[in-house]
Amino acid sequence: MDFSSEMPIEDPEKRAIAEKALLNYKICRHCGAKNPINATKCRRCHWTLLRPKKAKLKR
Ligand SMILES: [Zn+2]
Repeated sequence: MDFSSEMPIEDPEKRAIAEKALLNYKICRHCGAKNPINATKCRRCHWTLLRPKKAKLKR
């Protein structure tokens, strides 16, 4: 049998998930730590000012 291993890297569905994962976090304005998107406080310094990560994906 001939198994041609094709990895669909350009799978738009997988890419959408990957892009979403990259955008799904917040950055602490105080210490710059990465926090979950649903976090209300920084897990490192407990600062409450978190900004969503702005990632521009250029291809
Ligand atoms: Zn912090």
